[in-house]
Amino acid sequence: MNMPKDAHNAVEAPTKTREAVGVESELAEEADAVQEKPQPVEAPKSRAFDVVVIGGGPGGYAAAVRVAELGGRVLLVEKDDLGGAHVNRGGVSSKALLDSVNLLRWLENAEDFGVEVRHIRPLFDRMMRRQARLVRQWRAAWELFAGDHHVQVARGRARLVEPHVVEVELRDGKVERFKALSVIVATGSSPAPPPVPGGDGAGVLTSDNVWEMEELPSSLVVLGGGYVGVEFAYLFAQLGAQVALVEVLPRILATEDKDISKEMTRLLEESGVRLCLNAKVVGIADYEKQKVVFFEGLNGPGEVVAAKVLAVAGRKPNIAHLGLEAVGVRIEAGRIMADDHLRTSVKGIYAVGDVLRGDGWAHLAAAEGIVAGENAMGGDRRIEREGVPRCLYTSPEIASVGLTELQAQEQGRAIRTGLARFRFNERALIAGEREGFVKVIVSEPTEQVIGVHIIGARAVDLVAAGVLTLKAGLTVNELLATIHAHPSFVETFFEAVKATRHAHGL
Ligand SMILES: Cc1cc2nc3c(=O)[nH]c(=O)nc-3n(C[C@H](O)[C@H](O)[C@H](O)COP(=O)(O)OP(=O)(O)OC[C@H]3O[C@@H](n4cnc5c(N)ncnc54)[C@H](O)[C@@H]3O)c2cc1C
Repeated sequence: MNMPKDAHNAVEAPTKTREAVGVESELAEEADAVQEKPQPVEAPKSRAFDVVVIGGGPGGYAAAVRVAELGGRVLLVEKDDLGGAHVNRGGVSSKALLDSVNLLRWLENAEDFGVEVRHIRPLFDRMMRRQARLVRQWRAAWELFAGDHHVQVARGRARLVEPHVVEVELRDGKVERFKALSVIVATGSSPAPPPVPGGDGAGVLTSDNVWEMEELPSSLVVLGGGYVGVEFAYLFAQLGAQVALVEVLPRILATEDKDISKEMTRLLEESGVRLCLNAKVVGIADYEKQKVVFFEGLNGPGEVVAAKVLAVAGRKPNIAHLGLEAVGVRIEAGRIMADDHLRTSVKGIYAVGDVLRGDGWAHLAAAEGIVAGENAMGGDRRIEREGVPRCLYTSPEIASVGLTELQAQEQGRAIRTGLARFRFNERALIAGEREGFVKVIVSEPTEQVIGVHIIGARAVDLVAAGVLTLKAGLTVNELLATIHAHPSFVETFFEAVKATRHAHGL
């Protein structure tokens, strides 16, 4: 391992490792302290690396760590903070706020559990302070983990000047060039403002800057009914804002199984969210300190008025000013083209994460980073995207893996489905979490499970059973031959597996 002895931090060899920090429980405090340290400015001594990774989000970070684990000399270049969009611009913040409102919901049921709690009320400013603190702590933890893994970090904006030469404009203004046998591009994506008049106007918030809001808006229009839009609509409705959600497609969570999106539609409407479906936004304007969103609906034009607009309908890959086209990397429809080995059209240049697709998942970006890191070190691995779980941290949570019923039908597959409700689960009854269900899709001839869809408490953790089932290609018989703890939420997954037979009279 080519670990630099001296720590100098515009490219920084990690000076502070977790061993130096101490036990895990002290991480948060230490991370806060690290965050307060001034950012390093000195350039790295070395100019030659096995791999240079551009972008320190989940994809780039995982790639850099994997290269280092394999003994490679790796430089990770990040223009802002380690952690990318997930840690710094949405992932951690949204989950932190959702946990605050989920706690509220729990406390409202406290008396049912025999616990008296008085004066329950949301304090938006404190919730926002908490999410900001968690972001700082987790970002600093990434710095520490980089140290643990002996990853050198350069602070600055990178671009390719030749296929194996990366130029970095360091934060102190210096420009340095680094040679690499391979380069991994992991620059992520950014919010795309709605392409309509007023779409990029002042007061149209995105998932990048919504975290700067100091007061809870009295009303909010969320543009986009995908995962991020639904999380935000749920969150602000639970906090007491009047929320409308505008979605161009006929249903929210359109990529999820129809039964899941139907259930979430019901839950959102019960929380007071006004859903405007089949509604194409055509303009956004200001009206007496309010925002007006104009849309074309099935029944003609419509509008929604609110204090704020939050646009989360789309993201665009960060490919500008990277020198990609100049070195010959193929780009189509604003996306880098890469094969299943994460190889681009130029030998030795790989691409991973949201830069390949705009929208994505942190865990998929990280998995791709690991594959690209291994391939850059001479490996020959393919990324398997079939078993990537999707997740939503509302209450109840949503998580799924594999094919939806519709996708399976579109592929012409003979299938059976089974559904089991948490209301018949003993653990769910005790925990007061009786909403939702598990739906399982089984391929007819083989009886293999090809899709698992969960809406309910702990869905995001329960879906691990589905991920493993799909990966191992397990059949109904094999699953029903296993024994699980009782009472437990996961029993409902096995009930749904069983129901693929019972529901069909088998
Ligand atoms: C509100 C919100 C909630 C989300 N919630 C979840 C969730 O719960 N679970 C989940 O799995 N995913 C979630 N995501 C998606 C997840 O954040 C992304 O899929 C993930 O961050 C993608 O990782 P990445 O490494 O590809 O890109 P990014 O995380 O975007 O990282 C790219 C990095 O590259 C840097 N960079 C860009 N250009 C340059 C350059 N020229 N030089 C140097 N550095 C550069 C950027 O500063 C950035 O740090 C959420 C996203 C949002 C917006």
